[in-house]
Amino acid sequence: MLLLIPGPVTTRPEVRTALAQDIAPWDNDFKALYANVLERVRTIAGGITGEHVALPLPGGGHFAIEAAVRSFVPPGRKVLVPATGRYSESMTRLTREAGRIPVVLPIAPNEPTDPAVIAAALDADPAISHVGQVYSETGTGVIHDAVAIGAAVRARGRRMIVDAVSAFGALPLDLSRQPEVDCVVFTANKCLEALPGMAFAVCRIDRLLAEKGHAGSWSLDLADVFANAGRPRFTPPAQIVAAFNKALDFFDAEGGRAPRLARYTANAHTFYDGMVALGLTPWLKREQQGPIIVVIKSPDDPAWNLQRFVDALKTREILISNFFNTPTPSFRVGCIGAIGPDDMSRAVAAIDAALKEIGITRREAKCP
Ligand SMILES: *Cc1c(COP(=O)(O)O)cnc(C)c1O
Repeated sequence: MLLLIPGPVTTRPEVRTALAQDIAPWDNDFKALYANVLERVRTIAGGITGEHVALPLPGGGHFAIEAAVRSFVPPGRKVLVPATGRYSESMTRLTREAGRIPVVLPIAPNEPTDPAVIAAALDADPAISHVGQVYSETGTGVIHDAVAIGAAVRARGRRMIVDAVSAFGALPLDLSRQPEVDCVVFTANKCLEALPGMAFAVCRIDRLLAEKGHAGSWSLDLADVFANAGRPRFTPPAQIVAAFNKALDFFDAEGGRAPRLARYTANAHTFYDGMVALGLTPWLKREQQGPIIVVIKSPDDPAWNLQRFVDALKTREILISNFFNTPTPSFRVGCIGAIGPDDMSRAVAAIDAALKEIGITRREAKCP
C-alpha cells in the first residue's frame, strides 16, 4: 500500500522494523540514541552549537506548534498569521486558546505569501511581536517562502515561529542565517519519512531563556524541556524515536535535504503531468505548484463521490485522504515519503482506473 495522504507517509521496511523491540526510555543506550537524534535534527535545521537546541515533544505537530507559541510569545502579545489555509487556521486557534492574540492576514488561497505584505502588516502594527508562518501549506500545496518572509521580519526587528511540519527535511532552511526565527517546528512523519508520534522544535536558546516562565503549561513548556535536556520528562515513544533514527540514516544516505527535495519535485511533476494527461484539473497553476502535495479539483460529474473514489483507489493499493482542505471540493495526493516517480506513475494509472470504476466520464472541474 502506498500512503499518499501525505503524512504519515510511506516508510521503508527497515524503519518499521526498528519498532520491533522493547526499550526502556531511561536506559543509557537509549539516552545516547535520543541525544544523537536531537543533534541530527539540529544539524538539518542549520542550528548553531550553543545557540540552537533541538527539543523533543511526544505527539503530533499541533503539540509542538502550541508549545512554540506558549514558550516564545508572552501572554497578551500579538502574532501575525498569514492565512495560508488549513494549517494557518490551526496556528490561529492554538494562539488564541493560549491567550495570545492572533492577527490574521488575509492572502489568496492559491498564492504564496508576499513578503512585502508581511512587511506592511508589521509596519502598521508595532504591537505584533511574532509572525507565525506556515512554510508548506499542506491544505493546498502552496509553498510560502519562509526564507524571504524571514528577511522581512528580521529587517523589522520582529520574531518568527515557523510551522515547517510538511517542509522540514526537503525545503531550504538554515537557522544559522535566520536569527529572527525563535523556533521551527516539525514532526518525524513527513519529509523525514519516519513514523508518527514525535514532534520537534529547534529553538534559539537565548530566546527560550528570555521568555521562560510564562508558558502557562508544564507539558508544553519548551523552556522546561530544555532545562531537562537529555532526560525525558515523561515517557517518550521510544520505539518511534528508534525508528526515526533509522529514517535519518536513510536521509543521510540519500545525500540530505537537496536530493530529497529533488526526488519530491520529480514526484510532483510526474503526478501533476499525469493528472493533466488524464483530463483532471489541478487546484494550482503549474507555477504555483509546490513539491509536497498536489491537490486536484473534483471532477464535474454527478457520479463524483470522494469516499467511493478513495475506496476504489485503496483496492489498487493507493491510499489517499478521504477529505479535502481547500475552499472548493478537491482530492489531495502527497508526493512525499519513501516513494519515487515510478510510484507516482502507478498512482496516476490507479486514478485512471478508479475514475472509470466509479463511472466518472466528465473529469475536468467546473471552474478550471
Ligand atoms: C501535518 C501538519 C501539521 C501537524 O499535524 P499533526 O496532525 O498535529 O501532526 C501541522 N502543520 C502542517 C503544515 C502540517 O502539514
